[in-house]
Amino acid sequence: MEVVGRYIYPDAELDSHEGEVIEALKKASQQPIADPDGWLEEELRYNILLTTVDAALNWARTSSLWPVISFPACCALELMGAASPRFDFSRFGMEVMRASPRQADLMITAGTLTWKMAPQIKRLYDQMAEPKWVIAMGACGISGGVFKGSYSVVPGYNRIVPVDVYVPGCPPRPEALLHGIQTLRQKIKKRSIANEGKQ
Ligand code: SF4
Repeated sequence: MEVVGRYIYPDAELDSHEGEVIEALKKASQQPIADPDGWLEEELRYNILLTTVDAALNWARTSSLWPVISFPACCALELMGAASPRFDFSRFGMEVMRASPRQADLMITAGTLTWKMAPQIKRLYDQMAEPKWVIAMGACGISGGVFKGSYSVVPGYNRIVPVDVYVPGCPPRPEALLHGIQTLRQKIKKRSIANEGKQ
């Protein structure tokens, strides 16, 4: 059975129409299209200011905090929760947990620290890339928590490494850790390369 009205044009007319479209496009495309990034040159004029360099650098640093893997006790479960899809700290470019401290710039102290483990934690911190930051997560990380006073527990990571932000709780929920991370990001945004080495 013959199909009536299947095409808008008969075959020859269709070819002819297609040819006209191509010829029209060819005629209109004799010159390269102007670079749409031309506005960048205008923007770059403002980037010679030191404060703007600071802003760019700090933006890069706050957007790529890479935590070193060193989670010695139960707070680690909440840290894993913060990394899970529900809380998703990969939004901040943090999903890359580094097994090598040389590729990390953030230590999240998710767990009780014993004196036996303390030299290893200090070594991890010392090997991390500069600049680097520490979030003391949980009561144990802040003060030794329920184990404070024990002969075997360090009464706070700040005895071993400098701490930038404290996140209380036993354990703190992922929302609290995210708040701590945001607080650290605010702190990093205030850095200036003019004071680098003094901070
Ligand atoms: S603060 Fe509580 S949950 Fe966190 S490591 Fe200490 S005992 Fe465990």
